[in-house]
Amino acid sequence: MNCLPTKCPEPETIDIPAIRAKYRQERDKRLREEGQAQYVKLSGDVVENYAADPHQPLIEREPLHEEIDVAVLGAGWGGIMASYYLAKQGISNFRNIDTAGDFGGVWYWNRYPGIQCDNDAYCYLPLLEETGFLPSKKFSDGAEIQGYCRQIAETFGFAERALFHTQITSLIWDEGIKRWRVGTNRGDEILARFVIMACGVLNMPKLPSIPGIDSFKGKMFHTARWDFSYTGGSYAKPELTKLADKRVAIIGTGATAIQAVPHLAKYAKQLYVIQRTPSTVDERPNPPTDPDWAKSLQPGWQAERQGNFHRAAMEAFAPGEPDLICDIWTEIARNMQAELEAEGWPQLTMEQFLGKREVIDYRVMERLRERVAQIIDDPETAEALKPWYRHLCKRPLSSNDFYPAFNRPNVTLIDVSATKGVEAMTEKGFIANGQEYEVDCMIFASGFEVTSELERRWGIDTVQGRGGVSIYDHWRGGPLTLHGTMTHGFPNQFYIGYYQGAANASVTEQFGKQGLHIAHIIGETLKRGAKAVETTKEGMDAYVHRFLELEPDMSAFQDECTPGYFNNEGEKKPKWALFRSWGPGWSDFQTMLKEWRDKGDLHGLKLED
Ligand code: NDP
Repeated sequence: MNCLPTKCPEPETIDIPAIRAKYRQERDKRLREEGQAQYVKLSGDVVENYAADPHQPLIEREPLHEEIDVAVLGAGWGGIMASYYLAKQGISNFRNIDTAGDFGGVWYWNRYPGIQCDNDAYCYLPLLEETGFLPSKKFSDGAEIQGYCRQIAETFGFAERALFHTQITSLIWDEGIKRWRVGTNRGDEILARFVIMACGVLNMPKLPSIPGIDSFKGKMFHTARWDFSYTGGSYAKPELTKLADKRVAIIGTGATAIQAVPHLAKYAKQLYVIQRTPSTVDERPNPPTDPDWAKSLQPGWQAERQGNFHRAAMEAFAPGEPDLICDIWTEIARNMQAELEAEGWPQLTMEQFLGKREVIDYRVMERLRERVAQIIDDPETAEALKPWYRHLCKRPLSSNDFYPAFNRPNVTLIDVSATKGVEAMTEKGFIANGQEYEVDCMIFASGFEVTSELERRWGIDTVQGRGGVSIYDHWRGGPLTLHGTMTHGFPNQFYIGYYQGAANASVTEQFGKQGLHIAHIIGETLKRGAKAVETTKEGMDAYVHRFLELEPDMSAFQDECTPGYFNNEGEKKPKWALFRSWGPGWSDFQTMLKEWRDKGDLHGLKLED
């Protein structure tokens, strides 16, 4: 079916200077001087049961003492994709090691009611052509995704060897044996030739450091550790019946909260939704997979679809290119394409192109604000829920049930933007805008540590390379890599995630290509009979230099955005920005890496026997 451009308010009805001023005013209202330091690491002291796995019991086992080829740190998408490519290289002596009780990563831990992927599942779920699996609908439920994670591990033969409920506590390079000594909280001592750090991006829940948080006597939990024993219901059947006599507050209105709120609204006696910044929430058609469409798919369809999605979300559609995704992620590119088409594809400078795109952005955001007013009965609540920032300052969302929840008599929106967050917590509840609200339960949908210091996110006490150097010191100023996957001084160690590579709109595709590249280097190292591979200092420096030279300057856009994890809470010159990416783009980066691999000289690397 042809995906048409959306109907948005006409440009002449939009006062762009006034909207720009409003965007700045709303950003300034929320900008906090301490930036990311406003968050504290989640710990068992504040939120009970954080360290324990609420989903699966821990199974006792004897400590392992063994030598393996590769330790893959993580069994989420990063670890799964690395393992898939290791298996394809014919390497089988490896283990995924994870604190969770199964494969899945975020999809293992996050089991809050309503959890669904809000990216097109036919792009997001990787390896669909290799496994023959098709998601049951456009936006998969969390359980379907977690089940598919396990299915991949079983299909490609690495499920059995995984070590779950195992926290890596130390990683120390032993020069004498040219292996990594992997220590764990289960007393294991694993001597791994190679380690792949696939620790995840949304693995570490975070908490706002609210004054008095320790004094609250009621129940508290983070959405990534949903406590069904308290709320009632289960992951499979989220009927939260135990909340019928409870006053509940949820902090946050991001991707997680907007999915959980409709369920809480249905079951809780009273629900307070505490909002600092509203999300953009579009409608969410979620049709089941059409069997006729499935039958019509030709080999190569998934890569084509992922490419189409990536161009729409992060670049632009080419003339005549259909929008295969057709949702809030692709709307601006689609509308832009239609406009350029109507104008006969004029030659535009980059500045003209971006200027045109900006106007379309304002029009789309205006459409989304009008949507709020159409659905919400109470004008004051509607006004507070309108997002005032540019598209992609925050993750665009969709839900058919979030806004209607505010029309229920038991649901109240508490806008805490004036105080840049919740003012305080007390024994009985929380304080907002000078008023105390008594609650029985406080749920934190407050997100994850995405760009904080690396040791907080990896959660491994000791990571020591050559000469006992800690990677946390080595990267104190941010990552230094060759191709975003290796660093000098840390032989046989590889990284999957957002370091210094290229970003793709489908994170699983990005992790997959990183896994492919890493598995290639490991395979070559083993084939050539070497014990260690390391990027030379010159190789790394040359790549870092080129990366920085080509890196686009996003600061003008990001500085104007409302704070959040997309722009490092408004911090300037951040070390660990999420969207630092190879300037010439995804395809250019993949071509460069493929040529590098095909050449076969492992340029920039040094092998050791
Ligand atoms: P987010 O970081 O997106 O949202 C956190 C929320 O907590 C924000 O609304 C934030 O407000 C609010 N908050 C933080 N501190 C305070 C405070 N002191 N007072 C009041 N409010 C506060 O986390 P999510 O878990 O919602 O989502 C994280 C990411 O996880 C998503 O962007 C997405 O990548 C992924 N995800 C994907 C899903 C999917 O595909 N369906 C589902 C869920 C998550 P503010 O905006 O003002 O900072």
